[in-house]
Amino acid sequence: MVKVRFAPSPTGYLHIGGLRTYLYNWLFAKKYKGKVVLRIEDTDRDRYIHGAAENIMSALKRIDLPWDEGPYFQSQRIGNYQNFAHKLIDNGNAYYCFCTSQRLETIRQEQRKNKLPPMYDGLCKVLPDKVVDKKLKSGSSYVIRLKVPAEETVSFDDEIHGTITVDLKTVDDQVLLKSDGWPTYHLANVVDDHLMGITHVIRGEEWLPSVPKHILIYRAFSWHIPTLVHLPLLLNRNKSKLSKRQGDIALEDFLGKGYLPHALINFLALLGWNPDTDKEVFTVTELVEKFSLSQVQKTSAIFNREKLDWLNGYYIRQMNLQRLTRLCIPYLIEGGRIRYIQNRKYKSKIKKFKIQKTGEIVNFRWLKKIVALEQERMKRLDQIGELTDFFFTDTLEYDPHILIWKKTTVDQVKNNLIQIHKILKRISRWRFHAKKIISALHQLANRQGTGEIFWPLRVALSGRKASPPPEEIAEILGKKKVLQRIDKAIEMLENKRITNNHDTSLK
Ligand code: GLU
Repeated sequence: MVKVRFAPSPTGYLHIGGLRTYLYNWLFAKKYKGKVVLRIEDTDRDRYIHGAAENIMSALKRIDLPWDEGPYFQSQRIGNYQNFAHKLIDNGNAYYCFCTSQRLETIRQEQRKNKLPPMYDGLCKVLPDKVVDKKLKSGSSYVIRLKVPAEETVSFDDEIHGTITVDLKTVDDQVLLKSDGWPTYHLANVVDDHLMGITHVIRGEEWLPSVPKHILIYRAFSWHIPTLVHLPLLLNRNKSKLSKRQGDIALEDFLGKGYLPHALINFLALLGWNPDTDKEVFTVTELVEKFSLSQVQKTSAIFNREKLDWLNGYYIRQMNLQRLTRLCIPYLIEGGRIRYIQNRKYKSKIKKFKIQKTGEIVNFRWLKKIVALEQERMKRLDQIGELTDFFFTDTLEYDPHILIWKKTTVDQVKNNLIQIHKILKRISRWRFHAKKIISALHQLANRQGTGEIFWPLRVALSGRKASPPPEEIAEILGKKKVLQRIDKAIEMLENKRITNNHDTSLK
């Protein structure tokens, strides 16, 4: 049975590249009805960050691709690694090293000076048994190092990179067990992959240089070597490594900005894997069906943010409006636009919200209308506040010049707005719907021109050059506010400083 593992080190957040690794493991396992193991590799106590493992797990839960086994914590399995490290000494594949850190530093400095790669010089590899025994008896501090046969080469197969041969001269006698009894990544990783029955090791390409060391450990125990799969790196558009400096890299950052888990999954699946079709939108089931390691590319994958935005926008458009509104509300609250109010008085189940700036009370249905207006345009959930800001205030700040449509004069715009005001005033409050507004303004628009009427109306209601259709905004705002905003626009145009400056108007 296929068994894969995801083995993050709890050194911070879940990197988006780490999520891609998890996803590929997950898709592969599900395709072959196998299992995904979650193993927290927390043996590097210097880099350990408290709470990071929990963060990683909760981030994984949020994207809803559950693992099947674990989490295992390597820190709870230390005895295992110590046993195996000593077995490696017994079977002649590792040795005790008593070198002090000062000595190691001196070697390193020398190598740096001579532009040589930092490597242990092998002093303790050749210590006579008697000396070793004596040192152990006297309680000298030691580490256990892998005995790398420098005169040999090692070859291994990688599903993506093919056969790779490495000259062991270039491989250091890796420390496997540190002086405090904790294992290093290499030992713990190989021991656990073996003990957990991992059939496929699927991980990032940055681990490729570690493989020769791992192969030597597998060989020393005559263990079966799992199938190795090293995934291409994720790069920024400028080919630099995806790093915190260039913006978001933690899954939480992406979720926080309102990228939908499914959009992220879809996007990451295509980052390095070629489904061999032009299709870009996949359900998780489709991904499981189609996924294959042989279609994973060798070359690095470029993290194309526009594509992610496009996919996210697509999934937002597909979403049920009720659900989308529910997802948008926290962003409106966080942005200080609304506040949830407990409706104890009426013991009603209907949720109510207070608009922070105006003090008005609105309900879920009203918010749903607003979200509906932007569903087509939104690329991320966190844009909702900015896009709909004009619904949450009574004072719009805008440059009155933008009220002017193309070559119309200030007086014409003002007159048009006066006409619009007159017509809309005649519609009753309860019939103040988009359709009704359009038909009421129809004749005027025919006479004056559509742009001449709907442009200034849009600006008067939203304060913006780009917005959803003005009649839709009008319906949500309601008659009273619409008339007030038109009045305000007229008043602004009456200000003597407004000129026919067509450069500022939009085509
Ligand atoms: N603990 C390693 C990491 O942080 C795991 C590498 C591997 O999958 O072997 O990525």
